[in-house]
Amino acid sequence: MSTRPTVVWFGLDLRLAENPALWAAGGRIAMVAEQVAGQASGGGGKTGLAADHPNAKAVFWNRRYEPAEVSRDQELKTVLRGDGLLAESFNGDPLFEPGTVLNKNGQPFQVFSAFWRTCLGKPEPAPPAGAPRKLPRPRIWPESLAVSDLGLEAAFDWAGGLRATWEPGEAYLRQVGWREFAYHLLFHHPESPHQPLRREFSAFPWQSDPQGLKAWQRGKTGYPLVDAGMRELWHTGWMHNRVRMVAASFLVKHLLTDWREGAAWFWDTLVDADLATNTLGWQWTADCGNWRACRAPGYTDPGKLRPPCSQKQGWSWARATRSRLWIMSRPAAAPWQLWHKEMRRNR
Ligand SMILES: Cc1cc2nc3c(=O)[nH]c(=O)nc-3n(C[C@H](O)[C@H](O)[C@H](O)COP(=O)(O)OP(=O)(O)OC[C@H]3O[C@@H](n4cnc5c(N)ncnc54)[C@H](O)[C@@H]3O)c2cc1C
Repeated sequence: MSTRPTVVWFGLDLRLAENPALWAAGGRIAMVAEQVAGQASGGGGKTGLAADHPNAKAVFWNRRYEPAEVSRDQELKTVLRGDGLLAESFNGDPLFEPGTVLNKNGQPFQVFSAFWRTCLGKPEPAPPAGAPRKLPRPRIWPESLAVSDLGLEAAFDWAGGLRATWEPGEAYLRQVGWREFAYHLLFHHPESPHQPLRREFSAFPWQSDPQGLKAWQRGKTGYPLVDAGMRELWHTGWMHNRVRMVAASFLVKHLLTDWREGAAWFWDTLVDADLATNTLGWQWTADCGNWRACRAPGYTDPGKLRPPCSQKQGWSWARATRSRLWIMSRPAAAPWQLWHKEMRRNR
């Protein structure tokens, strides 16, 4: 076995377990690099990486699927290979490599249920690998705090009971299927974060309403469920899926504000911000995506009916999600009256 080391680049994915790039490097790892991409010269000269680590024989990393990262990875591979290094990327994220799930005609699926059925008919993805038992120490440790100094670890194992009793069921797996579908759509439509997939929506007369947009962002619309969700988002970076749908619906269907404004706000504020799923969520809410959940005649996705002003539904959804903690007051019988009051107050 060659003694020349392999550099493993940790980008977004910092896991030691379930990390195929780390596994592929085997025992030959001598270093991990945080910023390989920034070191690519791109101009045909040696990359900073090759210059800094003249002994390295390979660079491995887990690939990303956002359009900009796909091009960056390709460029990086060309540059590193030009430097005489073995450059390989691995799938450490979706269950099925985007672009590999196609219909009988070799075309991308546009119906989720058919896409997911095909995924489930494929050989099961390999079970996740654990963390390597041993990782070589760097010659010099960089100056650092201990993880425990950051106070990030929970004082007690709050998820222990859940872990011991919960078994992912079909409904959960289906949600993961939606995530797969989102990656599939982004792969086939790299323009989708900026372009509606139903082209006719390019000409949709969205209204410019900076004041309304600001009220929505700050959770000051007067609609309790929308506001609770938006305040929760701002304070915690998270919102339940149902509440995301209601809040997003309010922006695009009530304020008639361009879905891209909402997607940009979610992108900036969600801790789980993800280009593929965020784009799917927003195009889905704005009904400007070109895919369907199901092909059955007469099928209506119940999630498409999301009036934010039905008091009963608002309360039951708020109760079902932890967003209720962010409701400031009991909802008014007619929240649209509050909307006008809030807007006057914010003027
Ligand atoms: C407008 C809008 C924007 C969204 N933006 C994002 C985003 O930026 N990042 C993000 O990860 N999710 C996004 N979602 C999808 C969904 O809201 C979150 O994935 C979900 O709330 C995560 O909660 P959970 O981990 O409890 O999910 P669970 O219900 O436990 O599901 C398990 C996993 O499946 C995936 N998943 C669940 N629901 C969906 C869904 N509707 N679409 C695609 N994948 C799903 C997620 O990876 C999730 O962690 C968005 C949804 C909407 C309506």
